[in-house]
Amino acid sequence: MQTILTGVRANEEPTIGNFLGAYTPMINLAHEHATDSQINFFVPDLHSFTTPIDHDKLYDQIIKGIKYYIAAGLDINNPNVHIYRQSHVPAHSEMCWILDCFTPYGEASRMTQFKEKSTDADNTFVSVGLFNYPILMAADILLYDAKYIPLGEDQFQHLELARNIAIRVNNKFDQEIFTIPAPEKEQVKFMHLENGLRIRSLVDPTKKMSKSAKNEKSKISLNDNPKDAAKKIMSATTDSEGVIRFDMINQPGISNLLTIEALLNNRPIQDVIADWAGQTSYGDLKRKVAESVEHFLANFQERVAAISDEDVEKVLEKGEAYANEVANRKLHAVQKLVGLRK
Ligand code: ATP
Ligand code: MG
Repeated sequence: MQTILTGVRANEEPTIGNFLGAYTPMINLAHEHATDSQINFFVPDLHSFTTPIDHDKLYDQIIKGIKYYIAAGLDINNPNVHIYRQSHVPAHSEMCWILDCFTPYGEASRMTQFKEKSTDADNTFVSVGLFNYPILMAADILLYDAKYIPLGEDQFQHLELARNIAIRVNNKFDQEIFTIPAPEKEQVKFMHLENGLRIRSLVDPTKKMSKSAKNEKSKISLNDNPKDAAKKIMSATTDSEGVIRFDMINQPGISNLLTIEALLNNRPIQDVIADWAGQTSYGDLKRKVAESVEHFLANFQERVAAISDEDVEKVLEKGEAYANEVANRKLHAVQKLVGLRK
């Protein structure tokens, strides 16, 4: 059985960017492949403090992250669905070290996300963990022989790094020890998308919406008060073109709103673009999107509230037993390959 795997780092409150870019595709794929794939939806909690966080809040954030997966529609009664915390499967960290030693420093240094995050004025402590995180991510993927990893466009470079590491190790030892994750184009096709998805910041639509962004107005967080979230949409940055068009280069703010509107209502983007073609009132478009966001958040938050901590514990017990078994098997095979075991 093939494995489909994804995770959302538990640092800050996830945004609708995470929801639309990672949760929705994963949940759609989990439905589509309910019987022919293993579906691993994990919480990459060791990735949480590659940038500074409030550690007192981390544990609750992790548990909430799992509630979000369930509330988003993941079928936890499907025996092929596995939810687990990275930190509770020690093989991730051990595999990361081995992969570190098969990753050229130069290649790791090219990661644009590290360049961006390490030069971000808000980031006062640039750790080795931040530099190393794409290699831990490679371990997250390669331990489970995952071929498909639904993720947003910002992660494609890290995916490519994971592919390169897998190919390098396989070639060096002349063995198909790792399944090579599908390349970017194939991933996008598998998700039934034309391009990778990048929801934009509401303040600066040339940038992506990020949960770690300090400006609250730039993002819609999943725990935002629905009415406040609607206000953020109403004050989103647009442009002075004066006509509604889908044009990510010249009208990224408007295009972003059209994208959010389509995805939240589960409609093809082309249909939403057609609805608004030629219209000139940015206010009307914002009101419609604000309504969709408000409606979505109110519903989602109600579903989250209905999931108990006990539900989460049960799901984790099962998921972590499975993950440890699969990951340890792979780790042992790799330890043998590199000469650590007979
Ligand atoms: P951070 O600022 O902490 O890096 P993030 O919002 O980038 O937060 P991640 O935890 O790094 O979130 O990413 C989790 C998943 O969400 C990844 O698959 C990523 O590609 C996806 N994702 C993140 N931001 C967006 C976005 N703006 N649009 C679409 N997908 C996104
Ligand atoms: Mg990110």
